[in-house]
Amino acid sequence: MTDIAAAIARLKGELPSGVELVAVSKFHPASMILEAYGAGQRVFGESRPQEFAAKADELPGDIEWHFIGHLQTNKLKLVLPRAAMVESVDSLHLLEAIDRWGNGNGKVVDVLLEYHIASEETKQGFDRDEILGIMSSGRKYGNVRICGLMGMATYTDDASVVRMEFRKLTALFDEIKGMDSPGVNMTPAFSRKSFGMTHDYRIALEEGADIVRIGTLIFGERNY
Ligand SMILES: *Cc1c(COP(=O)(O)O)cnc(C)c1O
Repeated sequence: MTDIAAAIARLKGELPSGVELVAVSKFHPASMILEAYGAGQRVFGESRPQEFAAKADELPGDIEWHFIGHLQTNKLKLVLPRAAMVESVDSLHLLEAIDRWGNGNGKVVDVLLEYHIASEETKQGFDRDEILGIMSSGRKYGNVRICGLMGMATYTDDASVVRMEFRKLTALFDEIKGMDSPGVNMTPAFSRKSFGMTHDYRIALEEGADIVRIGTLIFGERNY
């Protein structure tokens, strides 16, 4: 068994049923994705439009791709035809552009709203009020299905900070689920919480993540 296959098997044994593993393959070659594919992995995460499109076109068609990187609206046509989900919607401008693209292409695009939970300003995402605003605005996004929230915790060894940030996300998620007079954007599809990476996925599992996005643990260090 290759290292990649072994890592996938170990993770699959560790994740509770119902938790989806996104194998984050950004910066790694197609050959490594095929190794994971050979070990049964079907869901992969990519963060750069060009790289993603090239890999998606070359690799098996039954792979489910999650786009997890910052997405500029001029790159939508590379990403949206190939992605099963865009986890990293981080601005209203992007959400509206995806909706327009979906409308023009006869598709409904599954997305998560990225919630800025980390202390690092360099990380992307909405703040709490912006997300509540989108969810309760009453504005119709006919070609976008908002499936939940995504977040990235601060990169720190302090587990209590990470845990607190994950709890911020689950608290907002629960608040939205419990809205008394939900806006039109509140649908049964709003059901997913994506958080947890290589260094913090165990905390994420304890805090109720149902999508974890793991790269380094599976594929090794990335060469940027
Ligand atoms: C790169 C990346 C990951 C995976 O990070 P690892 O530390 O390699 O597990 C997860 N989520 C997002 C948004 C990323 O950009």
